[in-house]
Amino acid sequence: MLPDIRSQSRAALAVQFAAWSEPTYRLDQLLGWLYARRAAHWDELTNLPRALREKLAAAFALSLPAIMKVQGARDTTRKFLWRLDDGSLVESVLIPANPALYGDRSDRHTLCISTQVGCAYGCRFCASGLDGWKRNLEPHEIAGQILAVERWNAGLPADQRVETDRVVNNIVVMGMGEPMANYDHLMTALRSLNASWGAAIGARKITISTSGVVPRIRNLADEPEQFRLAISLHGATDDVRVQIMPINRKYPLRELTEACEYYVEKKGKMITLEYILIDGVNAGREQVKPLAALARRLHAKVNLIPYNTVEGLAWKRPEENACRAFAAAVEAEGVTTTLRLEKGHDIDAACGQLRLKTERELADAPA
Ligand code: SAH
Ligand code: SF4
Repeated sequence: MLPDIRSQSRAALAVQFAAWSEPTYRLDQLLGWLYARRAAHWDELTNLPRALREKLAAAFALSLPAIMKVQGARDTTRKFLWRLDDGSLVESVLIPANPALYGDRSDRHTLCISTQVGCAYGCRFCASGLDGWKRNLEPHEIAGQILAVERWNAGLPADQRVETDRVVNNIVVMGMGEPMANYDHLMTALRSLNASWGAAIGARKITISTSGVVPRIRNLADEPEQFRLAISLHGATDDVRVQIMPINRKYPLRELTEACEYYVEKKGKMITLEYILIDGVNAGREQVKPLAALARRLHAKVNLIPYNTVEGLAWKRPEENACRAFAAAVEAEGVTTTLRLEKGHDIDAACGQLRLKTERELADAPA
């Protein structure tokens, strides 16, 4: 199998073009086709000479994730299930911007993308890890989720399409997998999406969520780009967090907090603490003060998410009133808090759920 062209950095392609004695402006044309125009076949690259296209096709694959399922409708949360070249399934979720926040600019969307097939971290609320870890996504499979959604939109009939060149304005790396465990591929993909020669999506519009891989948080702080950081916290004391997230044994809260402080100092950027509310596990009042203290120390905002039930897992979300009361108590401690009363509950919107269900249906299907 040939390596995919969208898994190459610009620098690597520049070396290849120099070896072929191709001028730099041809490389810029190629990159425009790859990231601004989202090409999926070599014969689409009409302004490149045929000889160059043939050299490219002999050296590199050019593929985008294939759509296996789309759930949801325009103006609601839409979920994409992708089939990759080896048959693996991953998912992305397209979330329209809240019209209450942005007026009726319904052309603005956030795409939540995956970075691995499965996940090795085994957090106890999460469908992504239920069947274990299979492999890392390649850079082109990470960036390809955004490009394939936009290509899909452009191919819809006019009355169903979002009429804008750039459907995805925001990226959250919060889908299946632990992004920091696939750090190098993630960075290659995000650089191509962020660069002016690539998809030109601002680094401030790209948020990486991690369960707390401390050394990689420090690496991210040292990168030149201003990518944003979200932490899957879900417990504000070690004894509670360790029941929910096994990674807390390796990187307990003190180390995690210090790495976050390093990031905030280096970047001058606010981070987000994600906190799922699980009934009888982490939603009691005794978590409020330690959560607020941590958020204040990190100048972070807190995003509360009522737990989305996962088939095969025992936990459930607290009553809506209990969620509101928890949010109000954190807010009363002087911390900016949002309570995300989930969109997309009905379409298995929490990461990993659609893929898991489909994998299991496929496994159960008569031959
Ligand atoms: N591995 C990374 C990114 C993917 S998981 C990380 O852990 O941060 C990211 C987020 O998906 C979780 O923090 C949580 O906010 C959300 N999530 C996963 N399963 C969920 C569930 N069952 N209900 C609600 N949110 C869920
Ligand atoms: Fe993996 Fe994140 Fe799910 Fe934990 S929450 S199992 S790290 S995808």
